[in-house]
Amino acid sequence: MDQPAQRFPGVLGHEAVQAAIARALGRGQLHHSLVLVGPRGVGKATFARGLGCALLCRARPGLGCGACPTCQRVLAGNHPDVDWLVPDGKAGTISVDAARACHVRQAHAPYEADAYLVVIDPADALGEAAGNALLKTIEEPRPGVHFALLTTNLQGVLPTLLSRSLPVRVGRLDDAIVRAILDARAAGAPQERRDMAVLLAEGSAGVALELAADPSLARSLELVRQALTAVRAGPPAIFGGDDHPLWAAWTAAITPDETPEPAPTEAAPEPAGKKKKAAKKDGEPAAKSSAKKDGPALQRAAVRRLVELWILHVREQLRGRPGLPGLPPVPAPAPGTLVAAISALQRLESRVERMGNVRLMLEQGLLEQSAVLTAP
Ligand SMILES: [Zn+2]
Repeated sequence: MDQPAQRFPGVLGHEAVQAAIARALGRGQLHHSLVLVGPRGVGKATFARGLGCALLCRARPGLGCGACPTCQRVLAGNHPDVDWLVPDGKAGTISVDAARACHVRQAHAPYEADAYLVVIDPADALGEAAGNALLKTIEEPRPGVHFALLTTNLQGVLPTLLSRSLPVRVGRLDDAIVRAILDARAAGAPQERRDMAVLLAEGSAGVALELAADPSLARSLELVRQALTAVRAGPPAIFGGDDHPLWAAWTAAITPDETPEPAPTEAAPEPAGKKKKAAKKDGEPAAKSSAKKDGPALQRAAVRRLVELWILHVREQLRGRPGLPGLPPVPAPAPGTLVAAISALQRLESRVERMGNVRLMLEQGLLEQSAVLTAP
């Protein structure tokens, strides 16, 4: 099963897309400019590297062998015939200079192989001026010059470039593939957290890897666990005061991490990985310090996550499955009750943004859950 699933080196899943591109390549009819569009974390950059191997490899032309020196360098991000245009610096955009340099380079490409691939990651980071610098190249490409524009959203791509490209959808991954990627790249994370990450990531390996590396997920789960217990016990537990396990879990969930998050251990040697990390470095400290100042924002975030996990837990039970790993079942197997429980949770979620006193609103939400579950 493993062998046919992987066509381009390093690419898991996306079988139909891989097959279509491989066929077009085999016939010498691959569109020179592909827009790989799909949700965050489904492997678009990995796909682009695999495509680079397919274009450049002479050992297994049209597919890539993954093992020859050419493929190895493409996969490591240091082959001269695969150029990555990524945002530089604070602006988060691809500079006009970088785009112009790329335009100049392609006029002399390929350098070592038979093809030259420019990966633009993400294509949304290409502004008008930088886009114009590449327009002619994409409009009238020289033989062997290919483009791969990566994006989560076609509307973010300059219309002038989009109209000269072929959109290719790179969709969500099967849970089994996400799980395999987690097993390979986040083996150090606790099993429970990995199981949860697969359920929450909805087919995005990137999101699953982030969740698996996120220690606060365990605290959020503990809060759901305590909320489920409190709802069952009713008002005495819900209004049990700060010493009650429910509110101890709440306090833990709204306390920001002091220690910097351990970086995902598996960050691949890839331009996309570099880019993602850089983006995190830019965004995270600011987000964290503002969160520290803004208690209600942290509290709202905690409620949102509580509700998100709780709804997922109930939905799993509605599907006849045991619910989220490590959580007690909602004590109401009747589907009607479970649906009512989800509706009540969604009402709580819709109120989150307007919550003045977040804890008070949460107490009301828990009372409502309790009423739903104990209704005759
Ligand atoms: Zn090869």
